[in-house]
Amino acid sequence: PLILGLESSCDDTAAALVRGREVLASVVMGQNALHAAFGGVVPEIAARAHAERLDLCVEQALDEARVGLADVDAIAVTAGPGLIGGVLSGVMVAKGLATGLRKPLVGVNHLAGHALTPRLTDGLEFPYLMLLVSGGHCQFLVVRSATEFRRLGGTIDDAPGEAFDKTARLLGLPQPGGPSVEAEALKGDEKRFRFPRPLLDRPGCDLSFSGLKTALMRQRDAITADKGGMTVQDRADLCAGFQAAVRDVLTEKTRRAIALYLEESPSQPALAVAGGVAANMALRAGLETVCAENGLAFTAPPLRLCTDNAAMIAYAGSELFARGETSGMDLSARPRWPLDKSAAPLIGSGK
Ligand code: ATP
Ligand code: FE
Repeated sequence: PLILGLESSCDDTAAALVRGREVLASVVMGQNALHAAFGGVVPEIAARAHAERLDLCVEQALDEARVGLADVDAIAVTAGPGLIGGVLSGVMVAKGLATGLRKPLVGVNHLAGHALTPRLTDGLEFPYLMLLVSGGHCQFLVVRSATEFRRLGGTIDDAPGEAFDKTARLLGLPQPGGPSVEAEALKGDEKRFRFPRPLLDRPGCDLSFSGLKTALMRQRDAITADKGGMTVQDRADLCAGFQAAVRDVLTEKTRRAIALYLEESPSQPALAVAGGVAANMALRAGLETVCAENGLAFTAPPLRLCTDNAAMIAYAGSELFARGETSGMDLSARPRWPLDKSAAPLIGSGK
């Protein structure tokens, strides 16, 4: 079946057409320029932009795929979690299309979209372990089926992408912070400054990143007070130290998550990463090492499918559609929607 997917839960408006594991079109319109002056995503501006652009994204996707709306078999849409105004825009457009075309509507959890992407890109078999690391999220999930997820742990405060972005801001580097901090870190000495390794002394897979930002601020202020300013090398060494701390903590917690995951006796054990931070080469190297040590295959989908997009929503929608899990016209937009129904309430763990 041909599935049209819509995504509008944060600051990317996206539409895609997917058939099986084939992506016929994936259109993503970012909003960086709209929010740049405010130093973060403004929900009202985002919602308005989504409402204005969703139709355009759909048209463009249909053009690219060279198909018509009449060829679509079902409409999949992100129904949460995310910024409520944006999610609502998407859900309303999807309902309009489903009604007009008399085709089924499939509400998709945005996180399930990320979590199922390795099946789209690499055909991974259930159950696999997923590390979702982005600007808004950080969690370990065992993906057991399209609807069953076991959450092993996650951040109790900031997401790692957010920490990279704040680090860049504190050091006067351009946004998004991940790529610019990584580039600086390549020229730096990770051992010169001491950064904490938060929560490593505690059992389990939970993580914390807000302390790293405080540590960075203190080191920066100490250097500035001492020498009246920072040299290029100081900055590179700070970036390297910070990045090494993120890498070490994520790598060690992944080791623990792998041990829990292996209790499920997967037939083809695999770890997949998703989210923008998965682009980080230092982190990837750490993850590849623990995977190799434990006999897991390591999968990192291409970045355009790791960050927010609608192909993942269309694909997740197609898995739900195949299981008969369609939604009614009463589908609602949910700002919060944890994947693991049994998990304890999350304490401020991202959006
Ligand atoms: P979410 O999808 O969870 O709502 P988001 O849309 O902000 O959040 P993504 O688009 O998946 O997240 O990723 C963006 C984040 O990834 C930014 O915080 C950015 O700094 C970070 N990032 C991108 N490239 C790198 C890199 N090379 N190293 C570290 N972080 C990176
Ligand atoms: Fe996302």
